Amino acid sequence: MHACVVGTGVIGVTTARQLAQDGWQVTLVDAATEPAAGTSHANGGQLSYRYVAPLAEPDALRDLPRWLFNPRSPLRFRPRLDVQQWRWCLQFLMACNAKTAARTTHALLALAELSRQSLATLQAREPVDFSHRSNGKLIVYRSRKRLDKARKHLDSDAGDVTQRIVDAGACVELEPALAPVRNAIAGAVYTPGEEVGDCLAFTQGLFERLARSSSVTLRMNTRVARLERQAGRIRQILTTDGEPLAADHFVMAAGNGSQRLLAPLGVNAGLYPLVGYSLSVPPGQDRTPAISVTDYERRTVYARLGTTLRVAAMVGIGVRSDRVDPGRIALLKRQVNELLPHLELAHAQAWVGARPATASGLPLVGRTQAAGNLWMNTGHGALGFTLACGSASLLASLMREQDPAVDPSAFRPSF
Ligand SMILES: Cc1cc2nc3c(=O)[nH]c(=O)nc-3n(C[C@H](O)[C@H](O)[C@H](O)COP(=O)(O)OP(=O)(O)OC[C@H]3O[C@@H](n4cnc5c(N)ncnc54)[C@H](O)[C@@H]3O)c2cc1C
Repeated sequence: MHACVVGTGVIGVTTARQLAQDGWQVTLVDAATEPAAGTSHANGGQLSYRYVAPLAEPDALRDLPRWLFNPRSPLRFRPRLDVQQWRWCLQFLMACNAKTAARTTHALLALAELSRQSLATLQAREPVDFSHRSNGKLIVYRSRKRLDKARKHLDSDAGDVTQRIVDAGACVELEPALAPVRNAIAGAVYTPGEEVGDCLAFTQGLFERLARSSSVTLRMNTRVARLERQAGRIRQILTTDGEPLAADHFVMAAGNGSQRLLAPLGVNAGLYPLVGYSLSVPPGQDRTPAISVTDYERRTVYARLGTTLRVAAMVGIGVRSDRVDPGRIALLKRQVNELLPHLELAHAQAWVGARPATASGLPLVGRTQAAGNLWMNTGHGALGFTLACGSASLLASLMREQDPAVDPSAFRPSF
């Protein structure tokens, strides 16, 4: 059987690798010249298997009015004459309730655990060098009220022994880089097993392996223009380089590009790009965190990737994703220095990316109704790196018509 996978971000490449390993002939196609040229390029580097709470949760609803009018908030909203923006925002607001958030979290935790196991298996068999480390994670709270809430969540999940609350003193003991802000911290949730890695290096490493495989054909620099449907199946995809691509099955792993590619089939995939920024702080500085840190109130994450410190933050709705906004980067640098005053950021490299997000926070993994041989693996929002290996494994089981390791129903496309 022959599968054509569209997209060489972390999702497309992990999917192609899994299918090739399962014995498929795979064609991997991307408009870019190199893999991981899109959102997978310089993300936060978190493999956040236990902390998967979706953006759409009751706290977000409460924070929203404050965030919308505060120029220092992690959220920036630019209203557009764009039906998809308003539709997505409405669906997001409807998902901001405790019941939906709990259901989403439950499904994401299962997929994240599968991802952890799948990555561990991959690394044991054929290790990729991507600064992968299990360094633990501290979710740091400044507000005592928010910390108490996090404590209640942990107490209600008494079976979860992987996470614990630590006070400000213990935070500093675990991560001495936080010493200057000890008095500003209420405490943290500490998860010793969490991991980090460089998503670009991981995706490139797997891609290079695929390039050497006799069962994989790479078609870079090839934009997919249209999917041609006939009698309920995708017959071929038309590309801008003139040569159509035929296959038995097609997988949409085109991140934000998936929305536009599906539209001519009458499908609204429900994706919207959530713009974010990262800073890569070059090596040679003392006191950069070794543990990965999330500054909860600012929604900023810190991860040490090899000798580089990666900082990622902010959500922009309706803002440009093709250029770095100097105002937002200046704000991000100020906020980073409020947590880590010693960090020298003059040479930090700024990057902008857009998370391909569904309103609920659940990725789309499975077969579409639009065409019997069209499969989705996209919409991973803020967790694409974390969920990549699990999503690839889930999709490959579904395509083999085997029982998957996790319940696929939450991720099944409704179109
Ligand atoms: C600031 C920021 C921080 C983040 N931090 C983290 C983190 O710490 N941990 C985590 O798990 N996740 C994180 N994420 C999310 C994660 O980066 C994304 O979920 C993930 O990269 C999405 O991967 P993808 O393969 O779906 O999309 P992409 O990497 O964007 O790949 C899609 C590919 O499809 C190609 N494509 C699109 N349209 C077409 C077309 N018509 N024809 C041919 N090719 C096409 C594109 O060229 C691109 O290469 C972060 C995201 C951002 C923006």
